[in-house]
Amino acid sequence: MTCKHCQTEIADKALICYRCGHATTEPRIAPPSNAPLFERPRHSRRRMVALVILVVFVLLVTRFLRLLIPLFQR
Ligand SMILES: [Zn+2]
Repeated sequence: MTCKHCQTEIADKALICYRCGHATTEPRIAPPSNAPLFERPRHSRRRMVALVILVVFVLLVTRFLRLLIPLFQR
């Protein structure tokens, strides 16, 4: 058979072309084309940031209320 990339005559059972190094067959498992595997969707990260901001806000409010409560108890 001939190599698809450089048209060199290579052995029928060759997996790669000896001349240009290209594979003679398509890879069985195609690499993911649209989204990277290790990157989460953006909205979940944004939701996480919102959650952290909410927790910090609640902590600040409770600390502020603890400072105010002795003033009201006088
Ligand atoms: Zn080739």
